[in-house]
Amino acid sequence: MNRNWVGKERLRGVLQRAALMLGAVCVVSTLGIGGDLAAAQDAATANHEVHRPSQVLKSTGVRKAGTARPKLVVLLVVDQMRGDYVDKFLGQWNGGLKRLVEEGAWFREAAYPYAATETCVGHATISTGAFPATHGMVANAWWERDSGKMVTCTADPKVKNVGYAGVEVGGGDSAWRMEVPAFADELKFQSGGPTRVVTFSLKARAAITMAGHKADAAVWFDGRTGAWVTSSAYSVASFVEEYAKAHPVKEDIGKTWELSLPASAYLYGESATGAVPPAGWGVTFPHALCGKGGDGVADADYYEQWSSSPFADRYLTKLAETAVDSLQLGRGKGTDFLGVSYSSLDYVGHEFGPRSLEIQDVLARLDRDLGELFAHLDETVGRENYVVSLSADHGVVPIPEDMQKTGADAGVLHLPELQARMEKALGDYDYPRPAIARVAGSDVYFVAGVYDRLKNDAAATHALIAAGEAQPGVAAIYTADEVRGRPATQSPTLRAFADSYFAGRSGDLFIVPQAYWLMDGTASGKAREYGTGHGTPYNYDQHVPLLMMGWGIRRGNYYREVTPADIAPTLATLCGITLASRDGHVLAEALLNDSTPDVR
Ligand SMILES: [Zn+2]
Repeated sequence: MNRNWVGKERLRGVLQRAALMLGAVCVVSTLGIGGDLAAAQDAATANHEVHRPSQVLKSTGVRKAGTARPKLVVLLVVDQMRGDYVDKFLGQWNGGLKRLVEEGAWFREAAYPYAATETCVGHATISTGAFPATHGMVANAWWERDSGKMVTCTADPKVKNVGYAGVEVGGGDSAWRMEVPAFADELKFQSGGPTRVVTFSLKARAAITMAGHKADAAVWFDGRTGAWVTSSAYSVASFVEEYAKAHPVKEDIGKTWELSLPASAYLYGESATGAVPPAGWGVTFPHALCGKGGDGVADADYYEQWSSSPFADRYLTKLAETAVDSLQLGRGKGTDFLGVSYSSLDYVGHEFGPRSLEIQDVLARLDRDLGELFAHLDETVGRENYVVSLSADHGVVPIPEDMQKTGADAGVLHLPELQARMEKALGDYDYPRPAIARVAGSDVYFVAGVYDRLKNDAAATHALIAAGEAQPGVAAIYTADEVRGRPATQSPTLRAFADSYFAGRSGDLFIVPQAYWLMDGTASGKAREYGTGHGTPYNYDQHVPLLMMGWGIRRGNYYREVTPADIAPTLATLCGITLASRDGHVLAEALLNDSTPDVR
C-alpha cells in the first residue's frame, strides 16, 4: 500500500464503513468557519475567471546593494499540492496563493525527477537541495534489514519526544537519518549564530526535515493525543507551550466545515467518485468535527477529522504568526527561518481525491490564511525584507474508479497479490520460504542472502520478474543493480528510480506501476480504506508548484524545467551561503540583480 498512508489505516474500521453505508454523519451544531468568505470571494470566483497577473503590480522583490540579505526566509510546503491546482483553481483565490502567483516568480514546469514521490522524501529534497540518492530519505518508512522491521524516516532511538502542554507522548524523532544538512542548518552555521530556525507541521517528517538537525523550534502534531510535540533533539519553545495551553486543538470540537465559496465557483460534482471519508463523515458537505459517534469527545476520530479539515491549516498559520511575534523573527541581527508545512490537503486528497470540492475548499481557505500571514509579515518584518518559497512534496493520482469513467486504463495494483505471485515463482527453485521479507510501496525487500544469490541465478530471477510483470497494473520491475550508481540512461523511469536509490535503505527490486494504477497494500478480501495515493514516477505525482516571492525575486512566469531541489540553492544564494549538494541548481532567471530590470 502507499507507504505514507499506513498511519491513517489503523484509524478506520468496520464501524466507519457501516456508518458510510447508512449515509450517517454526526450531528452537532453548525459553526461554519469563515462563512463571510463566500461573499467576499463571490465576485472573484463565480465564473472561474482565471486571473491574469496584473500588469500594474510592482514586484515586491528588492535587491539591496552590497551585502544586504533578506531578514527572514519563509519556506512553505503544501502537502500533496499538484502543480496543476494553481492553473485549475487560481480563479477561486484572492489571498496569499494569488499574491504569490501575481507578485512572485511562478515556475510552471517544476517536477521531482525521482520515483519516490512521498512526504518525507519531498520535504527533505526541498530542505536540502538534494535528491534522495544523496540525502538518504528514500521513503516515509523503509524496511530496516538489520532489525527486521519497518522504521520511519525520523525514528531516532537516541532521542525522546516531548509533548507540549504537559501531554505524555511516546517515541523519539529527529533528522539523524537525513545525510545532508538542511538549508536551515547551513544558514545557522554559516551565519555564525544570529539565525533562529522555527518549523511547524502536522507531520513529524515534514517539520523535522525542514528544520534539519538543530532548530529553535520544530513542532508537529500527535493525532492520538491531540498534543503538539517536539523532541529532545530540539529546544522546547516557551511560546509554543503558552500557545498550546491557551488553544488546545479540542477547542474546535463541535464546529463544522462548510464550503466557503459560492457553489458555482467549484469544479466537479458534489461528491467525488470513490471517496473514502474519515470516520463519522459522509461523502458530501457539511463535515462536522464531532469525534467517534458524534458524542463530542475529543478522541482519535475527532483529531483525524480535524487534521482533514481547514481548521488545522488555520491553526498552523496562527502558530506561525505567534512565532513571528514572540521571537521577533526577521527583526534580529541575522536572517531567520520560518518553515510551515500544511498537511491537511494530503489527508483530504487521500480521502476525497483530486477532483473533489474538499480539496478546492482547503486551498481556498489556505489562500486566505496565507494572505493573512503575508499581511502580518508585511507589517512586522516589512514587505521588502522577507523572501517566501512555496512548493509541494508530491502530487496525487486520481481515484482509480473515477479515472476509469474516462475509459482510461486505470486500476488498483494489489501488492499482496504481487508478493504472492513472486513467492510462488521462486517456489520452483531452492530459496527460503518466504523469500520476500517485505513489500513497502514500490520497494521489494528479500530475506537476507536471497538477492545476492539471485544475482547469480538468471533462471530464478527471470521467473520471478516475469511472474511480477504478469500482474495487472505492473509496467516493469527493476533490480537494485540496474539503478545503483545513477547510471546514464535514456529512460526517465529508470532514471527516476536511480535518483531515489540509496544503498542499504532502498529495496532489492522496484515495482514500476502503469500510469493511473494505484499501488495498494490492502490485504486480499478487504476494502481499500482510502481513496487514492501517490509515490510513482508519473507527472501527476511529480509535478508540483514552485513559487517564490519577495526579497531578491524577479516576478514572472518561467517555463524552464526545474525541480524543488532548486529551492534551497536559490535561497542559499540570496542569503550568501553555500550548500554542499550538487543535485539542485540556482533559479538564476528569477533573481534580481542591479542590471536586470524588473519586467515580465
Ligand atoms: Zn500522502
